[in-house]
Amino acid sequence: MELICIGCNKHPNEIEEYIIESKSEGISPDEYVLREEGTLNHKTGQFLCTNCYIKAGMPSSPQGWKAGDNMFEDLSNMIKDSLTPLKDGEELTESNFF
Ligand SMILES: [Zn+2]
Repeated sequence: MELICIGCNKHPNEIEEYIIESKSEGISPDEYVLREEGTLNHKTGQFLCTNCYIKAGMPSSPQGWKAGDNMFEDLSNMIKDSLTPLKDGEELTESNFF
């Protein structure tokens, strides 16, 4: 699995904070992110480095925010917002989308 910051598209070994932190623990930057990075999405390998996390407005969620996950949620909210309101008795069908 490739670990990548979805903000700056950098790998852990290109991001200074992980290089420094991992060195002090004697592990590789990748390993450090795998162990310590709270935004890491273990399914996709996506995370946000601290800089990008701050730039993104420090997203949070009750389950712990993971990079990638909430982007999908945001997308489905956007789709929901673009739906025309249903009239009484009308069923949600594909033609209601977009
Ligand atoms: Zn970043």
